[in-house]
Amino acid sequence: MRELAAVGSLVDAVLAALRTRPPCQVEVVRVRRGSSFSHTTLLRSFEIVAVGTPLAGARLAIEVVNRIVECACGRSSVVTANELLDRVWICAVCGHAEEIDALDDLEVLDVVLVPLRVAEPVHAAAG
Ligand SMILES: [Zn+2]
Repeated sequence: MRELAAVGSLVDAVLAALRTRPPCQVEVVRVRRGSSFSHTTLLRSFEIVAVGTPLAGARLAIEVVNRIVECACGRSSVVTANELLDRVWICAVCGHAEEIDALDDLEVLDVVLVPLRVAEPVHAAAG
């Protein structure tokens, strides 16, 4: 599954960046995906990969970049996960099959972090 692999490397990259920072929880990860990525699969993959990491429970905010394919028949269309068979896009009008390279476009835009709150000792007032 393309989405799972892409999300795996995305989470790895964010975790690597977090290592140099004080402990914190990730609140939002903003990413940009190509239109060929399945939205629901992306969200589900993120949930799975984030378990047990500071990214668990973070919201994935997804921007979509439309990938356009122009077919020989004149139809131009946004490439979506539904129209793809592996890396091959099939024109719904003329049946032309077109191999699409560089489909793995998933990019981290930014990450919103919340510092982990250190429990402050409660001082009971004496006397
Ligand atoms: Zn066509």
